[in-house]
Amino acid sequence: MKFIDLMEIIQDEKRSEDFLRSGGILKTFTRCSSCGGEKLGLIRGDRWKCYSCKSEWTRRKDSILSLVRMKYSQFILCMKFFELELTAKDTALQLKLNYRTVQLLFNEFRIVLTSFDIRKIIGEGSLVRDEELFYLKKNGKKIELTFSSDKRTSLAVIKMKRHFLQQTSAYYNIELSNINRLHSVKINRQSLILHAFLRFTKKRLYDFKGTGKKNLLLRFKEIEFRFNNSGVDVFDSLGRGILNKF
Ligand SMILES: [Zn+2]
Repeated sequence: MKFIDLMEIIQDEKRSEDFLRSGGILKTFTRCSSCGGEKLGLIRGDRWKCYSCKSEWTRRKDSILSLVRMKYSQFILCMKFFELELTAKDTALQLKLNYRTVQLLFNEFRIVLTSFDIRKIIGEGSLVRDEELFYLKKNGKKIELTFSSDKRTSLAVIKMKRHFLQQTSAYYNIELSNINRLHSVKINRQSLILHAFLRFTKKRLYDFKGTGKKNLLLRFKEIEFRFNNSGVDVFDSLGRGILNKF
């Protein structure tokens, strides 16, 4: 969905809400979860009401919007700005939102967009070292980023190194290893896609100033998605991803 098509919608909270509900991002309830009654209505205060048992619940129940406090129009714009690759900081500034709120939402967007299970990786204990390696594989015309080393199938390595400034603060130095070696390798079809991916990644990580490893990993997976899906409408993909998870 293009910005010009969203402009009319986001001017009005009711239209924004209708837009999110028609797409299924906001849930439409047909039965009361307490009594099973079907006489439901939308009432003031952003709530649903069951007229049989008088239960009430928020319009954001069961949706991604229950994670954050922002207007419906601001949520739509967060999706759009994410697609346009505005940083969470800039998005927060433009929409007058709390930075942490936007960062939380953007990470959730990254998770639904890439179906990446961050808990699994942390569970494997591979995020405790000071230096992390990402292995690049090629799968047809797509690049796959993994954390498991398989020297037979990996084409290149991205090395990120954690540097501590103080005890509680750190930054990551991202090094694209093997790239120099690749330059000296005769350019073939296989290395062309790698070079393209590395260019694509470097440009996007240049401005990365986050100190959180989780944020960085999720950003990496997002970059992988964008690289593999050029020409795909990220706003629409994001909408579908949200529906899959919520
Ligand atoms: Zn009820």
